[in-house]
Amino acid sequence: MSVQQFEQKVCQTTCPYCGVGCGVDATIVNGQLTAVSGSKQHQANFGKLCVKGSNLAETTDLEGRLLYPEVNGERTTWDHATDVVANKFKQIIAEHGPQAVAFYVSGQILTEDYYVANKLMKGYIGSANIDTNSRLCMSSAVAGYKRAFGSDTVPCSYEDLSATDLLILVGSNAAWTHPILFQRMEQAKKDNPNMKVVVIDPRRSATAELADLFLPVKPGTDVALFMGMLNYIINNGGVNRDYVERYCEGFDLTSESVSSWTVAKTATFCELQESDLLLFLMPFAKRQQR
Ligand code: SF4
Repeated sequence: MSVQQFEQKVCQTTCPYCGVGCGVDATIVNGQLTAVSGSKQHQANFGKLCVKGSNLAETTDLEGRLLYPEVNGERTTWDHATDVVANKFKQIIAEHGPQAVAFYVSGQILTEDYYVANKLMKGYIGSANIDTNSRLCMSSAVAGYKRAFGSDTVPCSYEDLSATDLLILVGSNAAWTHPILFQRMEQAKKDNPNMKVVVIDPRRSATAELADLFLPVKPGTDVALFMGMLNYIINNGGVNRDYVERYCEGFDLTSESVSSWTVAKTATFCELQESDLLLFLMPFAKRQQR
């Protein structure tokens, strides 16, 4: 009679679902993932996992997955399935041209896969209609970081949350999208009664529940809001001249370009109450003077 060997180990890994990057302890029994828990020592989550991360173990079995190609619900061969897709594409392109088709590609595939998909769409089909969810996720931030700081580097750490007394969230519904980080924000606010939270978002999301001040800007006016903010800070002694001289280029030109954005004009353009906008701006200018 053979005795089955029982092997259990715990591997440390990272939750793949969102950018918080929570540490996960994965329990593996005889090569199968059986349970997950938050890594207590991990700097991002200190043992916590949100509902997505805590259900990771249930997502690794094969039940309910598409394991074979199917056409109209019927299992088929890869050759037949790819023929069906290719023929549909050909038919649409013949009738309406290459601009009538598009690829929306996963953000979770490899660089080589992106290359092949781009080659197919741009090189063979002859259209630039291909994008991935990576662009929605990070592309604008990458462009901003590179222009502002010279590299694609997020310039803060999670620990800043417990040290700050002014937290401004712009267009972020962290309560849903980055739940564990949001819990850290909630905790930081509990621990520091002086901490103020400003949420700027056209939509009153769950994150706005944490806000001392909620600014429901008109969609598409966030750049104007920040031009008005810069102008206010410049006119109210909030600029750290020493920092500007050491690290900034083109500051005078920038100051001039925002000089028409008075509080009144900014409030009207962003469809905010002027008094609410001032509540946001005044402490910020004072803060810089210290
Ligand atoms: S916040 Fe949730 S989804 Fe994001 S990394 Fe942590 S456990 Fe995963």
